[in-house]
Amino acid sequence: MSDPESLDIESWLIAGGRPNQPGAPLNVPIVTASNFEHGGKMVYSREDGTETVLALEQLLGGMEGGQAIAFGSGMAAAAAVFHDLATGANLAIPDDCYHGVAALAAHGANLRDWKIERIAPEDTAAWQNAAASADLVWLESPSNPLLGVADLPAICGAPRKEGNLICVDSTFATPLLQRPLASGADIVMHSTTKFIGGHSDLLGGALITKSSTVAAKLIETRTHTGGVPGALESFLTIRGCRTLGVRMERAQASAAVLAARLQEHADIDVVRYPGLETHATHEIAKRTLDGFGAMVTFDLSGDGECADRFCHSLRLIQNATSLGGVESTLERRSNIEGQEHLPPALLRFSVGCEAVDDLWSDIEQAIAASR
Ligand SMILES: *Cc1c(COP(=O)(O)O)cnc(C)c1O
Repeated sequence: MSDPESLDIESWLIAGGRPNQPGAPLNVPIVTASNFEHGGKMVYSREDGTETVLALEQLLGGMEGGQAIAFGSGMAAAAAVFHDLATGANLAIPDDCYHGVAALAAHGANLRDWKIERIAPEDTAAWQNAAASADLVWLESPSNPLLGVADLPAICGAPRKEGNLICVDSTFATPLLQRPLASGADIVMHSTTKFIGGHSDLLGGALITKSSTVAAKLIETRTHTGGVPGALESFLTIRGCRTLGVRMERAQASAAVLAARLQEHADIDVVRYPGLETHATHEIAKRTLDGFGAMVTFDLSGDGECADRFCHSLRLIQNATSLGGVESTLERRSNIEGQEHLPPALLRFSVGCEAVDDLWSDIEQAIAASR
């Protein structure tokens, strides 16, 4: 059997989570079971998962260098991290982050008096301060949707408040671009719905940690709240991992080309892409990431109506929420609940695997139609 430490991650994504038994299928079957006959290791799948969930966890754990706990969605994974925070706990979260996580924190602030500090991804000193004083430090890097990159090695390596947790939502980076556990984070979180699943056909989430104590608590929470993923979703997530390396390679290369072309276009006001020298966190990205990712956020010149016309004129790029699929998706972000504060013509673009010149032609014709 292959061992993740001896392999490049791109090989592990293909080799991991296989049965590897003489006569066994190459891929784990979709085991749909609620319960198992007594006498074996597994009893009930809300607690134990099934063979399919375990194969997914083996694969995801190896990819980040820890023990993985799989969930039915990214938010189920995030909520498990927030679950045990005491009344009055101190939290630090990014000033730009996934709106569902911000809403989860705000809910706890109302219900349990959590004190929440919002910090800009690039404000390393403020994050280091939070690491020394907050009960939960929740980073998201690159951030959604402004693509701010945090200096994870500097933050996660800073002196810590005893017993606190640093969790990094690494959904936009994937394990190909950064490895938060190696930088000293306690937990790395993924919405596997996105790049890892990669085909816009499943919901999933994962938490990975090196600490067996943290893992045991998270599994207990998953058992209490019923967040285990289904077998079909687990199978599809494994299938997605197999091509993550090649998909990211293509999507990132196209994102770099499109970001540069957008920046030259007269009808685009701002382009945010960590690979551009003009991006606020380009220096941190260059130093800490193994690539600049496949997300590009840009502001069309004009008002929200112009931006809506642009979105409705797209032919190849899907005007849809979510991201990380082989199909490019784009949406006007301030139309989303909880994102109304964003510039009205801000467009979040998840670059997929189509031919780059077809994507560019689609953008050019939609800009023309939006004028
Ligand atoms: C989508 C997303 C989530 C939430 O994941 P779901 O799978 O939709 O529950 C959390 N963080 C980031 C950065 C995301 O993009």
